[in-house]
Amino acid sequence: MKYFILFGPPGAGKGTQATAMAEKFNLCHISTGALLREEIKAETELGKVAASLINEGKLVPNELVVSMMASHFEKVKGVDGFLLDGFPRTVEQAISLDNLLAERGEAVSNVLSIMIPDEMIVERIQGRAAVEGRADDADISIIRQRIATYHSQTEPLIEYYQEKGLYKEVDGTGSIEQVREAIFAIL
Ligand code: AMP
Repeated sequence: MKYFILFGPPGAGKGTQATAMAEKFNLCHISTGALLREEIKAETELGKVAASLINEGKLVPNELVVSMMASHFEKVKGVDGFLLDGFPRTVEQAISLDNLLAERGEAVSNVLSIMIPDEMIVERIQGRAAVEGRADDADISIIRQRIATYHSQTEPLIEYYQEKGLYKEVDGTGSIEQVREAIFAIL
């Protein structure tokens, strides 16, 4: 099985690009953000914990997200691999993922990063707020907190994966098509 990680700040276009990538490489696209929003909607225990943190722009505890991912790896069949969108988001999650995959005799195949500057993050997220109706997209202070969370907790993963020789980056500032072509050229 292949394990592709789709990396980048919030609003970089990970979800947008994921559909075409998953189709081309026969991957199951898993977005931890989308899974957490489903848990909130279903009013599960996990959803209750996640709701307030998401609405503060903070991360959900590592162990909850990791076990949610582990159960998905078990459930999904009939694909050539997984496209992880929004996971891992901390070095601790990356280490847990490595351990989880090692137990299965597998490893992360590729880390593809879509990079945009902070000001574009704000513009993009505000632009999609009306379309997707996410509360955490609609409030500028939550967006700013998500950017801060990205820089402090998620950005260190760049070095983590660079050291493993897995990290590849595309410029995410172009059109959807330009970014897609850049991704396919690399993969
Ligand atoms: P996203 O849809 O990827 O923008 O994620 C929305 C929110 O869900 C984030 O701001 C976090 O609060 C939470 N979240 C998503 N993925 C993770 C993760 N891997 N670890 C912790 N929290 C996460």
